[in-house]
Amino acid sequence: MSISLASWAMGLDVGSVAAKGVLLRDGEWVARAMIATGWDPAEAGRRLRAELTDSVGMDLELPRVVATGYGRNAVEANGRVTEISCHALGARRLFGDGVRTILDIGGQDSKVIALDRSGNVANFLMNDKCAAGTGRFLQNMAVMLGCSLSDFSSLSEDLEPHGISSMCTVFAESEVVGLLARGVDKNALALGLLDAVASRAEGMMRRLGLQPEVVFTGGVSQSRNLRALLEKRLNLPVRVSEDSQYAGALGAALLATRKTTRRRRRDEDAPK
Ligand code: ADP
Repeated sequence: MSISLASWAMGLDVGSVAAKGVLLRDGEWVARAMIATGWDPAEAGRRLRAELTDSVGMDLELPRVVATGYGRNAVEANGRVTEISCHALGARRLFGDGVRTILDIGGQDSKVIALDRSGNVANFLMNDKCAAGTGRFLQNMAVMLGCSLSDFSSLSEDLEPHGISSMCTVFAESEVVGLLARGVDKNALALGLLDAVASRAEGMMRRLGLQPEVVFTGGVSQSRNLRALLEKRLNLPVRVSEDSQYAGALGAALLATRKTTRRRRRDEDAPK
């Protein structure tokens, strides 16, 4: 089927671990897709586009596409926008106009974005130098503990987290092996690892100037236990949505919508 594409817009967020895509029609969410980025971000972008257009039965003609994320320059798109702008827009769409602090923890980086009352980016901090405190860190630790990532969402909150001293993935691995050998409870250790991630995130947020409402995006936000540990540390509610991992792609799609709308207005205004 080929349909009029004037009102369609697509956002692609090609991250270091996961590539996410959102398709909007007249600004409303109609389809989403997520795949592993793998070694080839360009191919991940192509597969995402195909999945999104297939899911609504379109062929060939493509809507306006804006790409973001670390792989954005490799992806075929009409525009490329930084993750900061896209996350800010996407988070406001997901959580509303009260959002002032966005914590995003993805596969290989973490960032905190401060928004002013109008939703403009006032400031941000980004850690993309090492995997400490990111999804990659937790993935490695899950392997060491012989558990899955979803186990990081179902730990008993009654346990006391067993602290770890190193956030460097390499040193933390040796520490975890040593602690397990000494008989430390595996779940308490898992909670301790999550608390170390929470502590690092808290430090970034306080450095930037913590303002409620606080929202949590990126794949790591799906850890229920991490959210609870963060709330305890901040003494504030931290909002998460099941769509939190799509915040960047949603923001990119919203920017694509704006461009589409502007172009459509221009076309409509043009002399016939
Ligand atoms: P990126 O955009 O950098 O690729 P994402 O924001 O898509 O990253 O997040 C991907 C990361 O989310 C993965 O590294 C994975 O470890 C993490 N993740 C996904 N689900 C969970 C979960 N339930 N608990 C902890 N981490 C998770």
